[in-house]
Amino acid sequence: MAVLDILEYPNPVLRQPCRPIEAAELLQPAMQALITDMVDTMYACPGAVGLAAPQIGQPVQLLVMDATAKTDRSMLKVVINPVVLSQSKWKASREGCLSFPDYLITVKRARKVEAHWLDATGQRVDETLLEYEAVIFQHELDHLQGVLFIDRMRNPQRDLIRRSELEASQTNV
Ligand code: ZN
Repeated sequence: MAVLDILEYPNPVLRQPCRPIEAAELLQPAMQALITDMVDTMYACPGAVGLAAPQIGQPVQLLVMDATAKTDRSMLKVVINPVVLSQSKWKASREGCLSFPDYLITVKRARKVEAHWLDATGQRVDETLLEYEAVIFQHELDHLQGVLFIDRMRNPQRDLIRRSELEASQTNV
């Protein structure tokens, strides 16, 4: 197990569009170790429910997420080379980001996302993600394209909050 360092804004890797992972590369020990380390890192970060590879300095299309990371850790997803087919039911909610430790931002995201991707073994997964999982997925997907949640902010005066202004623990993705 290894817990990796998280890159914070404005590290340039966070702005880099990530390349797809080849099937043969995915099964290499180095890539499997990276996946394991990303899962360990996500679970080691208090409040974290998702982590994208560029956040640990690897510009490849890989993200890990678990909407239940703070409870029973039963919804782990390893997502490689994701493709979104449709998005619907847009709604705003407050998000955190491990690469912006001081801020929370209200972002409008789809509550229903149809997508496909490869899992850690290279098998294709087709799934419809709903509600909280859909939000996490879209946040991490943005990271793979060099897009950050500050780019999704519509009105900074209304949508940006400093963590220090909030007392409760919040979500990090
Ligand atoms: Zn993030």
